[in-house]
Amino acid sequence: MVMPPSGDVCCVCHERFRLPCQANCSHWFCGNCILRVWNSGFVLQPCKCPLCRRAITLLIPASTINEDHDREAYQVLQSIENYNRQFGRNPSLIQRFQDVPFFIRRLLREFMDPQRALPFVFRARTALSVSSSMIKWMVLLSIGYVASPFDILSERIYGFVGFLDDFLVLVMVFIHLANMYRGLLLNRHGGA
Ligand SMILES: [Zn+2]
Ligand SMILES: [Zn+2]
Repeated sequence: MVMPPSGDVCCVCHERFRLPCQANCSHWFCGNCILRVWNSGFVLQPCKCPLCRRAITLLIPASTINEDHDREAYQVLQSIENYNRQFGRNPSLIQRFQDVPFFIRRLLREFMDPQRALPFVFRARTALSVSSSMIKWMVLLSIGYVASPFDILSERIYGFVGFLDDFLVLVMVFIHLANMYRGLLLNRHGGA
C-alpha cells in the first residue's frame, strides 16, 4: 500500500496526516491542508508544493481513504478530483520530465503490492509498450550506428557510445512508463 512514511507529519499543520494525499513531487499532506494552501493563493493556477515549490499537477489520495467513510473524506476526495481535472491534464514537458522518477518509484511499489493489484489491462499494456518502445529505439539506434562514422573511432569511444545508447533506451522506456502510469492515476482520481 502506498502510504506516507510512518512517523512523518504534515508540513502544513505539523500533525499526523489526516486523509493523506501525495503530490506529484512525492511530498505528502493532509488532504484538507494542501487544498487550503491552494485556496489561499491564486486558484486558477496549480498550487506550489510548500516544501519544494514545484507545481502540483496531480494529487493522489491514499488508498485507505474511503469516500463512504464520512462526509469529510467524501468532500476531500471530490475536491481532489476537481483539482486533478483542472490541473492534471496538461503539465508542461519540463514538469512531466521532473516527475518521471516519482512515477516510476510509485509504479514499482504498486506493482509489488499484493493488496492493490494494478488493472490487468494496464499490466498488459505496460509489458507491450515496454517491449515495443525498446525495439523501436534499438532499431533506430542501430540504424544510427550503421550510418554514423563511429566505427572508425577508437574502441573506447565506441564503448562509451554503446553505454550511452543503452542508457537512452532505458530513459525513453521510463519516460513512456511514467506517462502511462500518470494517465492511469489521473483516470482513477479525476477522470480523463
Ligand atoms: Zn496537515
Ligand atoms: Zn514537494
